[in-house]
Amino acid sequence: MAKKRILSGMRPTGQLHLGHWLGVLTNWERLQGEYDSYFFAADWHALTTKYNDTADIRQDTRLMFLDWLAAGVDPEQATLFIQSSVLEVAELNLLFSMITPVNWLQRNPTVKEQAEELHLAEDSMTQGLLGYPVLMGSDILAFKSDRVPVGKDQLPHLEFSRDMARRFNHLYGQTFAEPQAVLTEAASMVGTDGRKMSKSYGNDIKLADPADVVTQKVMTMVTDPQRQRRTDPGNPEVCTVFSYYKVLAPQLVSQVDTECRSATIGCVQCKRRMAETLNGALDPLRERREHFARQPDLLDDVIRDGNRKARETAQETLAEVREVMKLNVHTPAVTKSPR
Ligand code: SF4
Repeated sequence: MAKKRILSGMRPTGQLHLGHWLGVLTNWERLQGEYDSYFFAADWHALTTKYNDTADIRQDTRLMFLDWLAAGVDPEQATLFIQSSVLEVAELNLLFSMITPVNWLQRNPTVKEQAEELHLAEDSMTQGLLGYPVLMGSDILAFKSDRVPVGKDQLPHLEFSRDMARRFNHLYGQTFAEPQAVLTEAASMVGTDGRKMSKSYGNDIKLADPADVVTQKVMTMVTDPQRQRRTDPGNPEVCTVFSYYKVLAPQLVSQVDTECRSATIGCVQCKRRMAETLNGALDPLRERREHFARQPDLLDDVIRDGNRKARETAQETLAEVREVMKLNVHTPAVTKSPR
């Protein structure tokens, strides 16, 4: 039986950090063997908020792909591609924009959140940002993805794509299956200062950071502020380092808890042990990164092959879409039977 298809994307924001790895990439690595997997760099999505700052978008896309490969996303098992290389997604986005009521978008939580996050005045909302959920749905439906990996909080976003599929099927006949969620657990990683990990806060630990940089960042992490002296008992629950133990070394959590509360370990020692643990976890990523860094053509080949395969898949869907919508009788012949 053919594998179910899955699709997931990430905006190219440059080098990725631990939050991306443990929140997204470990899930991709797990899912890629089980599903016919498509993972893409969402460069068009990046334009919805960064249309006036595109200087680094190509370089950021390459760096992001390198991080994916370093994290074990395997081009032998998954199709890795760049969204803007698959023009059929833009065509489907246009067709869906014809049939999507504007009030669906105006009440969509994604659009509202983005506008609030960016402190956008109503008159600076672009058509691209307002229509962002349609583009997201077009990504999913262009590839006829059966499944989409999402966290619980992202379920409403997927529901929008399901609404799009239902509306299209109602208007033109059964064409799209409604994509289902694969609920994923995302380990939440705070930054070195205890806030949400983010490049813009300067509190992130990058997957590409060398071991000495990782150690130095761990040594600056915020701990229990009440623990002033080595002999003071600490409260691990308010400590950033302890939250890393929970994710990266759960087998040590109860030991660290006891050592901290009884002041039998100092914060410096506790951080050193975490730095070693983290560097040990990142070593396999460093090896894989080195493999690709030694042969720059390899990354180009991965992207070129992925773009080609992704485009072929989306072309099949668009041929079917044009047919049911009675558009363009001179549509090129479909080479494979529709899925
Ligand atoms: S001993 Fe470890 S867990 Fe306790 S406050 Fe220090 S760094 Fe945090």
